[in-house]
Amino acid sequence: MSKVAVIGGGISGIASAYYLNQHHVDVDLYDAAESIGGRIGSGFLDDRPVDFGGKNIGRKYKRFRSFVSDYGDLPFEYFGFNTSQVIGRKIIKINKEKAGLYNLIRLFYLSGLKGFVRLYPLVQAVKSDYKQGALNSSYFNHVADQNDHHSLSVFFGKRCARYLIRPVTVRMNGAEPDECYPGNFGSNLALALDSYEQLQGGMSGLLQAFSTGTSRTRVFTGYNVHRLEFDPGSSNVIIKCYNKAKNEELEYKKVLLALPAKEAAPLFKYSLPELSEPLETVMYYPVAVAIAKYQKDVFQSDLRAMVFDNSSLLSNAGAYGINDLDLVRYTFSGIAARKLISSETNSENVISIAEEIIEKYFNVKGNTRESYVYKYLDPGLCAYSPYHYKLLEKIEHILNPFRNISLAGDYWRGASIEACFRSAEEAVRKLIYENAPQA
Ligand SMILES: Cc1cc2nc3c(=O)[nH]c(=O)nc-3n(C[C@H](O)[C@H](O)[C@H](O)COP(=O)(O)OP(=O)(O)OC[C@H]3O[C@@H](n4cnc5c(N)ncnc54)[C@H](O)[C@@H]3O)c2cc1C
Repeated sequence: MSKVAVIGGGISGIASAYYLNQHHVDVDLYDAAESIGGRIGSGFLDDRPVDFGGKNIGRKYKRFRSFVSDYGDLPFEYFGFNTSQVIGRKIIKINKEKAGLYNLIRLFYLSGLKGFVRLYPLVQAVKSDYKQGALNSSYFNHVADQNDHHSLSVFFGKRCARYLIRPVTVRMNGAEPDECYPGNFGSNLALALDSYEQLQGGMSGLLQAFSTGTSRTRVFTGYNVHRLEFDPGSSNVIIKCYNKAKNEELEYKKVLLALPAKEAAPLFKYSLPELSEPLETVMYYPVAVAIAKYQKDVFQSDLRAMVFDNSSLLSNAGAYGINDLDLVRYTFSGIAARKLISSETNSENVISIAEEIIEKYFNVKGNTRESYVYKYLDPGLCAYSPYHYKLLEKIEHILNPFRNISLAGDYWRGASIEACFRSAEEAVRKLIYENAPQA
């Protein structure tokens, strides 16, 4: 098969190139930014590599782990699952390092009876068949048919939505429970039920190993694609892009587009407007992340993270790693945070506000902040759409006659790194097999 152009060098594009290479297909990978990785958001705090976006790797991330082992088997370290929140004046801790019954009682307390009754069958569905914990799974498509006329707030009831569901949705969708829908909740549950590690050297080592370690993928950064066109004569795809402020036109037999739906939509505005429309409907919310290093420990080992309610500008704060008690990762997402964060925000101001919020619970007052880094991500996290699987069916139906283009990204199977790998695997299969010219 001739060379494929992959547009988007985030984890979905990287995974797409990886799977295409596994099928002995060469790839040209294009990204608008100066480096690949997208919302993995790798950077440095002083000399230490840190990741602003996706970094926690579930034990169930099979596809991603096999990618890591192919690129040098980089070591992981335990991250754990430890969080807490303030209800009334009490700090309620959820800690996977504690016994199951302890957590079950806590969960019942947080969810209330209505929430617990609603949540239990969904949890069981994902626990008994992990594949259900993805967007567009049979069980959750049925849940959508029955319930997506309501948001998660109505579905779970007030108490459960506030104390149990919101900490999940602000973290995984950047959204409030009334901005998310029951049919998509399986992809959140799969994450909540997993336990986590992170790469010891951060994700940047892996991205570097990928960039330099494959002869079958050539990486082109600084290519901002603004339009895709279909040439009816050659049946090639024409990629129109800006490279260093100059217009360029590239032509490929096949293209795999691995962008957030919001960024894929404008590329089809002229060539296939009926595809732009459903892609635009997928909701994304911005997120800002700050990572700050303090002179002394901020956290205690059994209290390493806290989520805050919808009135707070800070959505959660936690230790960067299980042994990094002096390194805080602040996340700003959800409705209140959106008033504070933007591409123009003064980061020093944002972090000072966050410190004022956490000083009641953690050791930041009088603890010198030695350095910090801050990043605003827009699009940040994907909150999908009501009856999302129907939207995906619509996109597939529109794309059906096109044998030369396939889409991957966080809106197909879920936003986790593993779900991005799954979407890439499926998009590659479509491009190679289902989209093969008919004999
Ligand atoms: C704050 C945060 C924390 C997260 N934490 C976790 C976690 O711990 N574990 C987990 O599993 N997941 C996590 N996620 C989710 C996961 O990181 C993302 O869903 C995933 O990285 C998205 O990858 P993507 O390739 O689909 O999109 P992106 O990463 O957005 O990649 C798209 C790429 O396309 C490029 N691009 C955009 N437009 C164009 C264009 N017109 N032309 C050319 N290139 C273009 C961009 O520069 C970008 O590199 C987190 C996400 C965020 C934001």
